[in-house]
Amino acid sequence: MKLLEGKVAIITGASRGIGKGIAEVFAAQGATVAFTYLSSDEKARALEAELTAKGGVAKGFKSDASKFDDAQSLVDAVVKEFGTVDVLINNAGITRDNLLMRMSEDQWDEIMEINLKSAFNLTKGVLRTMLKARKGSIVNMSSVVGVKGNAGQANYAASKAGLIGFTKSVAAELGSRNIRCNAIAPGFIETEMTGALDEKVVQEWRDAIPLKRGGSTEDVANLALFLASDMSGYITGQTINVDGGMLM
Ligand code: NAP
Repeated sequence: MKLLEGKVAIITGASRGIGKGIAEVFAAQGATVAFTYLSSDEKARALEAELTAKGGVAKGFKSDASKFDDAQSLVDAVVKEFGTVDVLINNAGITRDNLLMRMSEDQWDEIMEINLKSAFNLTKGVLRTMLKARKGSIVNMSSVVGVKGNAGQANYAASKAGLIGFTKSVAAELGSRNIRCNAIAPGFIETEMTGALDEKVVQEWRDAIPLKRGGSTEDVANLALFLASDMSGYITGQTINVDGGMLM
């Protein structure tokens, strides 16, 4: 029996990186995958084709998670096409790093809209469906930076810490309706993006991690799978690090 058989999952920001890894693992575990992206049309079509070729049901939706109305229309379209939403993974996120001295108001606002408001938008969107079904699992993609803070990332750290507060509040509010909400705090995850960085610098980062390697998108996806599935039925309001022991 596959862990997500019969479940419909929305994953935001899955044209690449961690979101894509989650979409692949979810589809392999039997979920119907509705994923979103902002502009990578070709990558989205390729992922749709990849998952479908492996026998899964998957559809990519171009939808800006930071826009409230887009999020509501997305959920309506998913429910119309697939009947319900059992799992929401609020994964879409960006960085706009800068020292506070140089950080612009736009850099602050953009991060809050895309990283934090997006989770509000999508969670509001799925609420009615999950309340009616009296079940649901919501997972918010935070970061170890949201737990610990980081110089040069005041905007990003604040948005990711905000997601942890949001996660705990949603868990408290909706637990009685059997809707769970948890957060994942990845550490250094190696994606196509980090592949472009200086190998010497990346190796120094790896050496500083107790498990002596960067994480893979699959490492994060496996926790998302656990939290989305009924295996984690008594776990809510938690933030779990996937960081090779970086934060202890
Ligand atoms: P990524 O490779 O840059 O991918 C970001 C994804 O989000 C893309 O699919 C992008 O779509 C989508 N996206 C961006 N803005 C969006 C919007 N407004 N609406 C909908 N989708 C949007 O990122 P990643 O490294 O996989 O990170 C994924 C999440 O994990 C983020 O929340 C990030 O903060 C968090 N995280 C990452 C790491 C890490 O080491 N990588 C560590 C801790 C936390 P397009 O392709 O169309 O632009």
